[in-house]
Order: sequence, then structure tokens, then C-alpha cells
Amino acid sequence: MKTKVKSKALEAFEEAAETIVNPQLKKWIEQGGKVMGYFCCYAPEEVITAAGMVPFRVRATGSTSTELADAYLTNINCSFCRHAFNMGLQGKYDFLEAVVWLNNCDHIRRIYDNWRRKVGTPLAHMMSLPKLTTDKQVGWWREELAILKEALEKHLGITITNEKLRRAIKTHNETRRLLRQLYELRRKDNPPITGADTLAVVIASTAMPREQFNKMLAELLDELKGAEVTKDCKYRLMLVSSILDDPKYVKVIEDLGGLVVTDSMCFGSRMFWADVDEKAKDPLDALARYYIQVKPGCPRIFGGFPQRSKFVMDMVKEFKVDGIIGLRMVFCDLWAGELFMLEKDLQTASIPVLHIDREYLMAGTIGQARTRVQAFMESIGGGR
Ligand code: SF4
Repeated sequence: MKTKVKSKALEAFEEAAETIVNPQLKKWIEQGGKVMGYFCCYAPEEVITAAGMVPFRVRATGSTSTELADAYLTNINCSFCRHAFNMGLQGKYDFLEAVVWLNNCDHIRRIYDNWRRKVGTPLAHMMSLPKLTTDKQVGWWREELAILKEALEKHLGITITNEKLRRAIKTHNETRRLLRQLYELRRKDNPPITGADTLAVVIASTAMPREQFNKMLAELLDELKGAEVTKDCKYRLMLVSSILDDPKYVKVIEDLGGLVVTDSMCFGSRMFWADVDEKAKDPLDALARYYIQVKPGCPRIFGGFPQRSKFVMDMVKEFKVDGIIGLRMVFCDLWAGELFMLEKDLQTASIPVLHIDREYLMAGTIGQARTRVQAFMESIGGGR
């Protein structure tokens, strides 16, 4: 299955998803621009942009081994974490001026403990993400945002004004609006873009200077408006997952005849299904409220499962989904519980669901996944 439109912007997004330093980011760095890495979509990109840096979501794209990392992390640590840390030890992330972590899971926390000692990025910062979502936690997260802001001001010798924060909120809201427009096209019976290419676009949105990315995505949306559509999709599928940053994984599913038309993923809709309030008097408070109470949550947040299950069910209706594929990184305890509960809700609603445990590298588990997806689609029956 292939997106038929010929687009320079889409080619650039595909390149950004297949590499770590894409040409747009390389140019920014060569012109003296600084880049700050982050690991989780709860990380406040807006504060990083307001500090004049490009926020870059750390991936392990291109990693082939965890040999170095395995000296510090055990083999029951999430393989994404081991591959990402291994790339840090190999110097693949030496272009980063700073990195921010959140205590989103114990596996990521272990990277922080080791990265700041062994990788030596000039600034390594840890934020304490609350587990609940009341106004009290919004206040807590506002304090954490202020601490990050002060750490960046001190490290860079700058002042991050409210004006800079408001401008950054506008830029990142624009990215979110454009990505929602892209998903809007996937509600159609015959969408003009595949799930694999959509994932490449979303990944590129976390790896390029944002204003440049926004211009390029606006171009692609124009090109897709009149574009030829995919007609050979037998089943409309939805992916539910934590980290999935490899479009090739989605392509394997789509080459079997199922088109991925939407998702609930942290490199997906959970990043941009809502906006930060641009009219709020206090931009840090607006950001705290957005990340804790407005943005779609993940199993890291306690007590939010009913909202997350409803988010998935609404997507199923809006995107006319025939079946859901739940992906869990082996040893990911957060998503073990989440997918177990979600499967129950989906079965009650008679929505076909397939749960696949995967390793970070496709090579390890893709053969088995291919067989199971094939069988799953046949079990859905009907077909378009
Ligand atoms: S996949 Fe799970 S274990 Fe791995 S980093 Fe994400 S939340 Fe943590």
C-alpha cells in the first residue's frame, strides 16, 4: 500500500523519520542553533522552543545493538530504552545541548541515572510528572515547568519571557492543528495517505525546527487535497500503543491489506488532539493545565482509564475502524495493564482487537507479527 501523491515535503518527512539528524535540523545546528532532547510526549516542547532551542524527541532509529547499554541496563529493561541509551553511549546524540527526562516509567528513569554520568550532555534535567490530574497536580506541574525554565535560563544565560512562551505556544498549537487536519483526511472512505506515511509525518514533527515543519506540512496538506487515493484497503485499522517510531512496522501491516487510519499512540494522536489555551493570562499555568488535564492521557496517569478507553472508542466510530491492533513493548508494565483492560472493553463492545508484544527492533518479532496480523484480518471477515 503506498501514498500516491508526489511530494517534496513528504519525502523530507520520510527522511526525517528514517534518520536521527535530518537536513533541516543539520542546517539549524550548522548555523549555531541548539537542540534539546526529550523522551516522552508529556515533555513541555513549548518551554524548549521559548528558550530558542529545537525540541527533539529521542528515538533509537538505526540502532542495531544494545551491547554498550547492556553493561548498565538489564535485559528485562524495555528494549527501546536500551537501544536509545546505546546510541547515546555511541555518541549519536552528541549534537544535543540538553536533555529533559520525566519519571514517566522506571525504565526511562534508569536511562537518566546512567546518561548524565556516561553520555555527558551539557545539561541533563529530570522533571517529576504527577500521577493524578486534579488542580493540585496542575499546580505541581506549573512548579516543575518553572524549575525547567530557570534551569534553561541559567544554562543558556537568557531570559524566557512570557511573550516568548506565548509565541512558542502558538507555534506548537499550529503544529497540532495541521496534524489534526492530516488525520481529518484519514476519516474518508479512501484516504489519500497511508498510516506508515502519516507516522513519518508525526515523527518529523518532533525532529525538525517547528516553524519550518509547519510550512512543509501545510504544503503537503495542499498537495493531498486533490491527490489520488488508496483504493486497495480491505480493513480500516487503528493502532493503540506506547512508543512506535518506525513507519516500516506500519508498512508491514498495510502491505497485508489493512490501512491504518488512526491511532492512540505517543508518536500519534495523543500528542496533538487538543490545544494549549492561547488566551490564558499565565502561559506556564496554561501549559500545566494542558499537559495534566487537557491532552489525551496514557497509562502513566492513575485513574484515567475510563477517559482513555472512551478516547479509543470515539476514534473507532469517527474513523470507521474495523479492528484494533494493540502493541506493547516487552517488559512494559504500564501498557501490560492498559491493554489488558482495554481488550475487555473492546470485546464488550464487539470491536475486534489483536494484542502483540514486540521488541524495539522489528527484526526480532516481525515474522510472527505478520502471521498474526494476517490471521486477525481474516478473522474480522467481511472486508471492504
Ligand atoms: S514503552 Fe513502556 S517501558 Fe518503554 S519507555 Fe515507554 S512506557 Fe517505558
